[in-house]
Amino acid sequence: MTDTTTIERDRHRAGRAVLDHWVGGAAWAGSSSRTGPVYNPAKGIVQKEVRLASKDDVAEAVAIASAAFAGWRDASIAKRQAVMFSFRELLNARKEELAAILTSEHGKVTSDALGEIARGIEVVEFACGMPSFTKGDYSENVSTGIDVYSLRQPLGVVGIISPFNFPAMVPLWFFPLAIAAGNAVVLKPSEKDPSAANWLAELMAEAGLPDGVLNVVHGDKEAVDALLVHPDIRSISFVGSTPIAKYIFETASANGKRVQALGGAKNHMLVLPDADLDLAADAAVNAGFGSAGERCMAISVVLAVDSVADQLVERIARRIGTLRTGDGTRGCDMGPLITEAHRDKVAGYIDVATADGADVVVDGRGVEVDGDADGFWLGPTLIDKVETSSDVYRDEIFGPVLSIVRVDGYEDGVGIINAGPYGNGTAIFTNDGGAARRFQREVQVGMIGINVPIPVPVAYHSFGGWKDSLFGDAKAYGPHGFDFFTQEKAITSRWLDPSHGGLNLGFPRHD
Ligand code: NAD
Repeated sequence: MTDTTTIERDRHRAGRAVLDHWVGGAAWAGSSSRTGPVYNPAKGIVQKEVRLASKDDVAEAVAIASAAFAGWRDASIAKRQAVMFSFRELLNARKEELAAILTSEHGKVTSDALGEIARGIEVVEFACGMPSFTKGDYSENVSTGIDVYSLRQPLGVVGIISPFNFPAMVPLWFFPLAIAAGNAVVLKPSEKDPSAANWLAELMAEAGLPDGVLNVVHGDKEAVDALLVHPDIRSISFVGSTPIAKYIFETASANGKRVQALGGAKNHMLVLPDADLDLAADAAVNAGFGSAGERCMAISVVLAVDSVADQLVERIARRIGTLRTGDGTRGCDMGPLITEAHRDKVAGYIDVATADGADVVVDGRGVEVDGDADGFWLGPTLIDKVETSSDVYRDEIFGPVLSIVRVDGYEDGVGIINAGPYGNGTAIFTNDGGAARRFQREVQVGMIGINVPIPVPVAYHSFGGWKDSLFGDAKAYGPHGFDFFTQEKAITSRWLDPSHGGLNLGFPRHD
């Protein structure tokens, strides 16, 4: 271990700065010589390297976390709360710094980066209320002279593995609750935009968190696999694509861990003929193209009832014409995609659409960009008359491609949503309360918006989808979060007096 306290040490690989792990309250190089590139997607350049941990590096981080857990679990609730309150204040005061990191490595525009941080701060505020959730229950005199009570204790060292699309918010969904509840954490963020995690960990240290309670280990599959099988990792919280989520759930469960693994999505917005079409078009554009469509709650399919579909498509296309795509620091509406390979993959779906007989109404490949020519750009793309048999419909594209699927009416729309493999988010746009009520009862999806396109629940309601969008039975944050990061004990107690003597081999009854 070194005692370096800055995030990036001035060491160079091929002339570039190298981002270290953050372990035991300090930047740490570990022993692996492997690194990966971190791009600035708006410029199309590699701006730094990130270390990719070996199995041994992970083992060392877990050992340091285990040692720190022994002290942290005994820290008073008042002390743990004080750290969370202080973290909340620091995060709020310095959010522009973090937003700049998000824009530089992910590409999302500054206003969107600040929105991501605001949703993360909500969870920190919820974590400040930890005592209400972990205080347990007490039943007096369940039998004569006997009391039963329950209490919740931390698990130990918990693992968090996060995706590239929310480099700050997704870690913040988990570690504040885990730490407030008394656990120690090893966080493995996405290697594509890793710096936000170090920044957050350093801020937690400034807020008074003891060294080793929050550790950041960078890496790829090797680091993830080491966490999944390590005997001292008690739980895994994962967010990412569905195939990896399924793999994480199966592997970590088989190794005896508690697992919550949130996967991918394909979110539909059903627009009924009685909806306000201008509001629906605004919502489709905001939810389809915000963060360049790289959101698990993005709307990627509009189910338009035939009688209003032409009007809706025209309104959406008109709005797309007003959007500015470009460098996130320049006040644009939409930034670049995360990598060149991902941009090319997403753009490839426009050819698939044409081959499958759909209408490409707006082709984002020709977009005029306010930014560097080498950035990973693709403008907002609108494809009408997409068939549900097309890969454009079936795949999670995860880019600025909005499909219109035309439907006969409500039944047809709900049938399509319920036939899909994912169940993350969905929305209905209508002015008919009865239709909306029926929708919320019938649709097989975990998070539903009624005239709200991105229904991400507030921090005190848990976040999670159904079907292939969530493996495991605990959602993220909210009450599920504290349940997940604690284990319950039930205690039956009697303070003896002589009247309790005597032998009785029967099963204990409470008479
Ligand atoms: P990803 O699955 O490629 O990566 C997620 C994490 O898993 C990263 O930390 C990565 O290093 C690791 N990983 C990647 N491949 C691995 C492998 N073969 N073995 C072990 N670990 C591996 O996801 P991504 O591209 O970073 O993020 C986008 C995906 O995340 C989308 O599918 C999106 O829908 C999903 N997502 C879901 C939610 C949700 O709440 N349901 C939220 C955000 C993102």
